[in-house]
Amino acid sequence: MIHLPDRLPERESARRERTRVRILEMIVRTEPVRDVLNTIVEEMSAASPAGVAILIVRGFHLEAAAKRGLTDAELTMLQQLPLARLVDAEADCYGWHPAGNLLVRGLVSGAGEMLGAIAIPSDPKAADLPRFPEEFETLESLAAFAIEHENLLAELTWRAEHDSLTELCNRQWFERKLAVRKFELRRKPASFAVLSLNIDRFSLINDVLGYRVGNRLLREVAARLQTNIGPDDFIARAGGNEFLFLIAHAGSTEEACAAGERLLSSLRQPFLIDDHELFVSASIGITIVSAEDSAADEPESRAWAAMTNAKMRGRNQIALFDLSMLQNSRERLEIGFRLRNAIANGELELHYQPQVDLATGAIIGAEALLRWRHAAIGFVSPGTFIPVAEESGLITNFGEWTIAEAIRQGTAWKRAGLEPLRIAVNISPVHFMREDFASRLRELLRHFDTDSFALELEIIETAVMQDLDHARAVMQDLGTAGVAFAIDDFGTGHSSLAWLQKLPVQRLKIAQNFVNEISSAVTRPTLLANIIRLAREMHLACLAEGVETGEQALALAAMGCDEAQGFLYSRPVNAADLGRLLGEGLVADVALAGQRG
Ligand code: C2E
Ligand code: MG
Ligand code: MG
Repeated sequence: MIHLPDRLPERESARRERTRVRILEMIVRTEPVRDVLNTIVEEMSAASPAGVAILIVRGFHLEAAAKRGLTDAELTMLQQLPLARLVDAEADCYGWHPAGNLLVRGLVSGAGEMLGAIAIPSDPKAADLPRFPEEFETLESLAAFAIEHENLLAELTWRAEHDSLTELCNRQWFERKLAVRKFELRRKPASFAVLSLNIDRFSLINDVLGYRVGNRLLREVAARLQTNIGPDDFIARAGGNEFLFLIAHAGSTEEACAAGERLLSSLRQPFLIDDHELFVSASIGITIVSAEDSAADEPESRAWAAMTNAKMRGRNQIALFDLSMLQNSRERLEIGFRLRNAIANGELELHYQPQVDLATGAIIGAEALLRWRHAAIGFVSPGTFIPVAEESGLITNFGEWTIAEAIRQGTAWKRAGLEPLRIAVNISPVHFMREDFASRLRELLRHFDTDSFALELEIIETAVMQDLDHARAVMQDLGTAGVAFAIDDFGTGHSSLAWLQKLPVQRLKIAQNFVNEISSAVTRPTLLANIIRLAREMHLACLAEGVETGEQALALAAMGCDEAQGFLYSRPVNAADLGRLLGEGLVADVALAGQRG
């Protein structure tokens, strides 16, 4: 038992007060926590002359921070002490737990969190357990405060440098790292690469499966990417679904592209999240930073512009930066901004491209193709603005507007005395995958006379492949409301006819690449011929896209293809012009008759 006089001489109490203030100042000045704790241990020795040690909780263990009098062996024993011992083991009424020759008690924060421990030698001969004066407890509180303060600072620093979702470094940290690398270039002229990676159609996953699944996917993607970079490379999450990389050894574009390829292929295996098997692809933009190219002041923007370019070219690929891309990405930002008001300002319009029966040459349908005319920027092609609308989620509004407008036009043609027409409308995967896609479309159809037109929805393979069950349910549901489905650009995606068998699809639209392989009326590209044959066996209608020459039309007809669409017959035209073509019924005759004759 340690005895201290109840009343201290005035000078001693003033000295203690000064020490307390000094310790507090050390904490506030953020002096190293070990220095603060050493000062505290010094002070404590007055009450515990045999020794004292303060330990800090690091993870699940204690780490010695300051000591006086205790042996190294005793400290090692303390460090191996399971934290639970400080909570569970039987303690005396002052919270001391026996541990070998020592007594230990926890240092706890105001919120009850275990911050560390304090240890003193126990006196085996002492009848009573130690009691300490109030001053000792004040010092313990200061020790707890010092550790808590340090933890808080560490947490704040961590947060300032990291992304809390993926635990990767954040953009700010990346920028600092990049600045250092650029500075080093002056001394060590070994070029490096900055790479921007963006997950394709990520908004689809967030919209359809919810943010929780989206966040988990981001975490798993981050983990895979991290394990697929080199030891000297650096990865950060720039926000949203964008990741940034510094590729250390990238003297040539080949080396940089190889690093990009490695990242892309690391994402190829599906991600299993809850019960969802998610197929993910990404677009990558790369820029090389070299000592000679001092103009490369914005490598991140350059990599981003290149990544945007990769997306525009169809996603799931790598693009290398060139200067023209900067202009493009600025345009893209502007497009995204202006697109928001396109519907409200009446800037959208549908054009129609006739679809013809290859055998008779009659117009049997029309594909509705979206056009956007902006007063200031002029005409923007769907290839440019659809990807922007998809990334921003605006595509759902566009899709609904397009369907309603196509139906309205179909009804108007019927009223004008024309035969009911099959109208095909393109649906983005982002829109198609939405939970409420079918129910909202049914609601829309309720307002129209569905005998006036036949509605066909064109979707690409990727939309169906993401979730076959969803696709089947939507198709069956809408099928009962008279809606038909066509697979657009068939042959450019996963290209398997096997899964098509499981879906109520009516038509395959064979991508233009296949049609381009036909060089004469008697050419029979094997793959194309096989697709047409299999489609027929599966009772699917076949429509060839992008038919530009009479030879192509004849070869397709000879292979058994039913229908075609392309510049040979007509470019997409506005509604009034299509009305005229329908009235004349001429378009196909002119084209094919010319060839046959
Ligand atoms: P798509 O659905 O495969 O549409 C066919 C595209 O090929 C159209 O381009 C059309 O003008 C073009 N084309 C038709 N015949 C020929 C030909 O003989 N030769 C060549 N070289 N091209 C031909 P467009 O209108 O620029 O549309 C491009 C893509 O934009 C469409 O490809 C479709 O994926 C998308 N798109 C267009 N409208 C919409 C829409 O309303 N919604 C959605 N989600 N996507 C749309
Ligand atoms: Mg289409
Ligand atoms: Mg197409």
